[in-house]
Amino acid sequence: MSSVVVAVDGPAGTGKSSVSRGLARALQARYLDTGAMYRIVTLAMLRAGIDPADQAEVAAAVADVRLSVGYDPDEDRSYLDGEDVSAEIRGDEVTTAVSAVSSVPAVRTRLVELQRTMAHGPGGVVVEGRDIGTVVLPHADVKIFLTASAETRARRRNDQNVAGGLPDDYAGVLADVRRRDHLDSTRAVSPLRAAADAVVVDTSDMTESEVIAHLLDLVHQRSEAVR
Ligand code: C5P
Repeated sequence: MSSVVVAVDGPAGTGKSSVSRGLARALQARYLDTGAMYRIVTLAMLRAGIDPADQAEVAAAVADVRLSVGYDPDEDRSYLDGEDVSAEIRGDEVTTAVSAVSSVPAVRTRLVELQRTMAHGPGGVVVEGRDIGTVVLPHADVKIFLTASAETRARRRNDQNVAGGLPDDYAGVLADVRRRDHLDSTRAVSPLRAAADAVVVDTSDMTESEVIAHLLDLVHQRSEAVR
């Protein structure tokens, strides 16, 4: 039980991050945010003046990026060259460019390798991303794929934006959610999809604590089944 490996995948706006952190806390497991890694590499490209859409330049530069992330579900700690960039990687500039950078095969190869190494540490781990159950950890003990309707995800993000002082723009946010869904699910390398053996959980009509409780149940059921 204490060394359970859980993969949590799904698109943005499903509550994936908060739920994965909550699950890691409840299991006293480590937590790995793979999206943060793609964001750190994206920041490195932007700082180096590299066009995120220039696949060849991005591929040539990725080997030199010195990145690290923490395992603590209660702390968002992301480093580039030893500098804490946790806040900067959540900004608009990185968010806009990250899809392009994460579609470069050399970026994925490097980060997937690092993610596999990091997942194999001591004790249990909850690994959150887009391709964890399909590519990074195909032998994970439990695979969860979170979904929610585009409308629900847009509403959640718009509410967050408004709470953070940004303008109320539900229609614009919905259009962006649909655009990113399309890009993420149709890209050639590691498109976003549920693994054949993943449990799909629709969070549209569930609160965060309901989702965490449901996932904990799934983990307990599965870990008993594999014993
Ligand atoms: O989860 P988060 O929104 O921080 O992820 C940022 C971006 O990184 C995603 O939109 C996606 O393009 C990319 N990503 C990925 N594979 C992962 C995790 C994130 O391609 N495993």
